[in-house]
Formats: sequence, structure tokens, C-alpha cells
Amino acid sequence: MTDIAGKTVVVTGASRGIGEAAARAFADRGANVALLARSTREIERIAVEIGASALAVPCDVAEWGQVDKAIKRVLNAYGRVDVLVNNAGIIEPISALATSDPAGWGKVIDVNLKGVYHMARAVLPHMKKAREGTILTISSGAAHHPMEGWAHYCASKAGVHMLNKCLHKEEAGRGIRAIGLSPGTVATEMQREIKASGVNPVAALEWSDHIPPEWVARALVWMSSPDADDFLGEEISLRDEAILTRIGIVK
Ligand code: NAP
Repeated sequence: MTDIAGKTVVVTGASRGIGEAAARAFADRGANVALLARSTREIERIAVEIGASALAVPCDVAEWGQVDKAIKRVLNAYGRVDVLVNNAGIIEPISALATSDPAGWGKVIDVNLKGVYHMARAVLPHMKKAREGTILTISSGAAHHPMEGWAHYCASKAGVHMLNKCLHKEEAGRGIRAIGLSPGTVATEMQREIKASGVNPVAALEWSDHIPPEWVARALVWMSSPDADDFLGEEISLRDEAILTRIGIVK
């Protein structure tokens, strides 16, 4: 099993859903966790529940200045960043291209794609100095499959998929591990928004079709260990039963 105890893990979008589950899972295994999101009250509540090994750091990942300051706070508190989990993401405003709001469309790119870049840019110099570090990035099946009403989201996740590959190409030889994760559909607030939109086949899925965020969190913990090294520069899909078995999520 992963030896993550004593390591420092930064999780973006940690105020609910997959990010909250990931922060709790890493903390359960003895890691120090920094919870980043815009909802200060939520991350502070979760950090208090986790205990002394958790730090709430309010941060909008779309804003470089905030990301830069947030990582400085984490380094002041823990001295290093061993694992970055790029999880923060949005899907609203869901809309057909022809009627989409340009500002809302661009905001999704700012959070989902530029946010991942900002976080990687902020931690890389420190990881490179330490000659080790892991950057895990949540992608989506939407990176590879066009969906009605989701052009902004699909384009952002396709960008994230390629960003992960470029990161691997530049830094794999310097001790930096970069892996993407396509979780399938997960029972979180984002799926409530998708359901309410009614625009495409994903909106037609039942709640019971989605996997729990805790499965994604377990996958992320596993990916932070050398056990997942055959996926460096690639993307792991939790739709793959063999992967779920390998991680120990299903028997
Ligand atoms: P969620 O419950 O809606 O959570 C999204 C998280 O992102 C929240 O903690 C939110 O916190 C944070 N966030 C949004 N904008 C942010 C910003 N500008 N700066 C910092 N944090 C921000 O959704 P989720 O399902 O857990 O999604 C997590 C990731 O999984 C996303 O990247 C999503 O695209 C991906 N994903 C989800 C599914 C699914 O079926 N749920 C499937 C494939 C991929 P604040 O609002 O407090 O900032």
C-alpha cells in the first residue's frame, strides 16, 4: 500500500465532492493536506473535521496571483509539496454553442484548463528542486467524446489531457510523475447540475449509475504511489473494471 504518511498533498476543489473525499482519504493515510477552493467556510469546516494535519487555503485557481500565494502558504506550513491533485472544475453554464454566453464559456476554460496550468506552474519549481513530486489531474471522458451542450467542458478537458502529456514529456526525466484520471460519472454536485440541464445522455443517467467520490479518492491515493508508474504521462479510466480490481475497489 502507498506510503503517503508525512507527505504533503495539495487538493484543489476540496470544498465538496471528489476533492473533499480525496483530502479526507490522503489525511486518513497520514498525509498533511492543504484544501484549496473558493468556499472558505466549507474548506475550514472540513479541515477542522480532519484535524491538525489539514490546512484550509482559500484560492480561486483561475487567478494566478491567488495560486502563487496559496502555494507559498502551503510551503510555509509544511515546507514541501509532494503531491498535487488538480481536481477543481466547473461545467456550468451548460449551453449550446450557438446560444452560449462568451464570458461564461471563457470562465470554464479559465478554471478547468488555466487552473490546472496555474497549479502545475506554482508547484513545479519546488518539486524539481526536491527532484520528486506527483501531479495528478482529473480529466474526463468528455476529453475524448463530444457531448451536446458541453463544448466548453469537452474542450477544457481535452486541453487538460494534453497538458498532462506535455508535463510528462518535459519533466518525467526529472523525477516528476504526471498522471491523468478519468473517473467516469461520480455522485457529486456536478452531476446534479448535469441532471438539471437535461441536455444530453449523461443527464439521463440515474443517480445509482454514478460511482461514489470515495472510489475516486482511493484511486488518487493509489496513483500517488509507484504502483501506478506504468500510467505515467497517461490517463487512468475508472470505467475500466481491471483498474478497479487492481486498485482494490472491486473484488
Ligand atoms: P463538484 O462537487 O461540483 O466540486 C467542484 C469543486 O471545484 C468544488 O470544491 C469547487 O469549490 C471547486 N472549484 C470550482 N471552481 C473553482 C475555482 N475557480 N477555484 C478553486 N476551486 C474551484 O464537482 P466534482 O464532481 O467533485 O468535480 C471534481 C472534478 O472532477 C472536476 O474537475 C470535474 O470536471 C471532474 N469530473 C467529475 C465527474 C462527475 O461525474 N462528477 C466526471 C468526470 C470528471 P468552490 O466552489 O468552493 O470553489
